[in-house]
Amino acid sequence: MKNLFDPKAAATCTDDLSLRIYTSRLLGRDKTLVLHGGGNTSVKAIDQNAFGEEEEILYVKGSGWDLEKIEAGGFSPVRLPHLKRLAQLPALADPDMVNELVTHMTRAAAPVPSVEAILHATLPYKFVDHTHADAVVTVTNAVGGEARIREIYGDAVVVVPYVMPGFDLARLCAEQFAQQAGPQTIGMVLLNHGIFSFGATARESYERMIDLVGRAEDYLKHHQAWDLNWTVTPSAATPDATTGAAEARPNLALARLRQDIATVAGFPVVMTRQADAQSLSFARRDDVATITQQGPATPDHVIRTKRLPLLGRDVAAYATAYRTYFATHEPLAKERKTMLDAAPRVVLDPELGLCAVGRSAKDAAIVAEIYAHTMDIIARATALGGYRALPAQDIFDVEYWDLEQAKLKKGGKPAVFAGEVALVTGAASGIGKACVDALLARGAAVVGIDLNPAITSLYSRPDYRGLVCDVSSEEQLKSALLSTTDAFGGLDMLVLNAGIFPGGCRVDALKTDEWRKVMQINLDANFVLMREAHPFLKLAPRGGRVAIIGSKNVPAPGPGAAAYSASKAALNQLARVAALEWGADNIRINSLHPNAVFDTGIWTEAVLASRAKHYGLTVDEYKKNNVLKTEVTSRDVAELAAEMCGPLFAKTTGAQVPVDGGNDRVI
Ligand SMILES: [Zn+2]
Repeated sequence: MKNLFDPKAAATCTDDLSLRIYTSRLLGRDKTLVLHGGGNTSVKAIDQNAFGEEEEILYVKGSGWDLEKIEAGGFSPVRLPHLKRLAQLPALADPDMVNELVTHMTRAAAPVPSVEAILHATLPYKFVDHTHADAVVTVTNAVGGEARIREIYGDAVVVVPYVMPGFDLARLCAEQFAQQAGPQTIGMVLLNHGIFSFGATARESYERMIDLVGRAEDYLKHHQAWDLNWTVTPSAATPDATTGAAEARPNLALARLRQDIATVAGFPVVMTRQADAQSLSFARRDDVATITQQGPATPDHVIRTKRLPLLGRDVAAYATAYRTYFATHEPLAKERKTMLDAAPRVVLDPELGLCAVGRSAKDAAIVAEIYAHTMDIIARATALGGYRALPAQDIFDVEYWDLEQAKLKKGGKPAVFAGEVALVTGAASGIGKACVDALLARGAAVVGIDLNPAITSLYSRPDYRGLVCDVSSEEQLKSALLSTTDAFGGLDMLVLNAGIFPGGCRVDALKTDEWRKVMQINLDANFVLMREAHPFLKLAPRGGRVAIIGSKNVPAPGPGAAAYSASKAALNQLARVAALEWGADNIRINSLHPNAVFDTGIWTEAVLASRAKHYGLTVDEYKKNNVLKTEVTSRDVAELAAEMCGPLFAKTTGAQVPVDGGNDRVI
């Protein structure tokens, strides 16, 4: 364990809360301690109320906040004496507990306090830190876990048997603490769940966490259960699978798998694939069917990963087993539950590696990261003597816990393209970039391709990938499709935007090379991409969609633009034929014809001024030289392109819609 505490950085913290933020972020930065909203921290402080009286306040992590990025606003200030009184109650239902927490905060706009707030309140230390450290859950989930924990820590920690988080856990911890704690106590291990440390200062509490987790790591090293061998053995089913990434076949298998999962889930999903050494090696272990079917490393992972991963690709069988799991455990729950979707969130396949599924690319990335840690934990616990997760009923209780469900529902209604994947060509600038923005804003995961290397750094977010791609290269287009399906599991929408518009040249002076170049980019590249994308679009859960950025020049060509007008007209015919042919595959193809979109790279102020002057117009008149006297922007075109992929156009294919402010030659 690396101690990241920097006394200089800590010295800049002026009060208890800023120190609390500082060491919380240190914990959050180490993914072997906490992942995505896992873990929580608190500090007990004295505040003045409106009457000038001093009050003891527990600042505890608010639910929905990640320790790594927590700010002052992420801590919920709750009156400490009230929490201590609550801890004396013999029982308190979780919704009532949450009500008590929320109604005793001193800042109305603060987030809902962590459900472990009362537990934090009962521990008699100023700073309290809680993580789900990989090394600790590895030991507690190994055969003989409790004895091993006592062997590692002796009387340095209080050991608490597993109870579901919430009021009952807070009570049990308070009880166990009173019985077991002494002057030597620096932490508390919650079996099958995680670990607490505490201290008089932020530094003491943090360093005790590092020390305690380090001891568990040393124990694993000492028992030859630390270093993992992720050598990829050839898969029996597919001997060539290690080189499979370059082939289309596994990617079609991915898209098919995603379609099956979406069908069971009842909504489209993003699915990321990890075919790294760890994932492939783990998925090909001889004992994979035993070690992966025990349960998650810590119960709160269940809301992200479900209790068990799917082994192989039989989604229907997984769904049947999930329904049986629900039917078995639901009758034993305190109140009636509504079944969640029966689709897997983690898939382990000897050929594909690890596939992680989510309603969004962000969710899928979280699942992938959690399971990468889970694979380490399972492999190490197995090396230590056997991985044993909690009984299924305990996991069910957390999966169907009202408070956990509330966390997931907080997002509200999903965005229109949630779980869907789009590819946009010519996406680094202008209309293409605006299309990326419009699709991201509607919840899609987007791959942007462009010749311009700026495409790779357009955005840094889990739902965006930028790829440098020369659309005139068939190989590069194919490879972009494989990257798209590796990143997000399939392809639902294709926005064909890349194109070139060479300077004015009359037919009698047009060079053959120039003509061919325009045809190659504006026509051939789109044909190749459509053909190669077709098998993926066919597998889109809600049907495939293609939006084609055409041109006003299709219905109304201009002199000096022979190659451009001819290429766009041919593309238009290609789209119409594809609309006829692919309707049976539930793929819709619609075109939009923009004109005079000036907020793109080619139209500099100088070029605009000179063109306007050429027509005897001001720049403003030139920009609005259409029937509606309105300026058409990249965003206008992109919004229409996105809408054409959406439900408004669900019953439309083969359409051509102008977006040009009205053109008297077209109307
Ligand atoms: Zn916890």
